[in-house]
Amino acid sequence: MSNALVLNATYEPLCVVSERRALILVMNHRAGVVETSGSFIHHPAGDISLPTVIKLNRFVRVPYRNTVPLTRRAIFARDGGKCVYCQAPATSIDHVMPRSRGGAHAWDNVVSACHRCNHSKADRTLKDLGWRLRNIPKEPSGAAWRILGTGRADPRWVPYLQPFGVGSVVA
Ligand SMILES: [Zn+2]
Repeated sequence: MSNALVLNATYEPLCVVSERRALILVMNHRAGVVETSGSFIHHPAGDISLPTVIKLNRFVRVPYRNTVPLTRRAIFARDGGKCVYCQAPATSIDHVMPRSRGGAHAWDNVVSACHRCNHSKADRTLKDLGWRLRNIPKEPSGAAWRILGTGRADPRWVPYLQPFGVGSVVA
């Protein structure tokens, strides 16, 4: 069984649930199917197609606990999959203020970097090197970002995540 993406009535991505949970929401008329997964559940009255994207029939107000999980996937997505120092494809996570110098493992101190920059930076600070960041790293906000922390996203979810600023790195 795989998972299904749940969209709010406004199409804003909300969360990820199991396909079975998604099917229950649909059968209870709490949600409608937006995309089917291509797999089926066998049923005497006819096979039931499992959803991969559903949309709630009624708008749900989400209490914003703005905690986006600090994962490699989410950091790469925020930074566009590129090294923040030289724009080469990112292959690693760099702590701007090195951990050995007291830098935190937090959204405002982690960036995606290529191996070369990460290696040559080592445990030096940007000031030591005379390097600069184009953007100050910060915690991303918005519902789509929470989806990133839930693990692998189905490529069919991308069109629904993309309008919310996530997508190029998800698939
Ligand atoms: Zn680089």
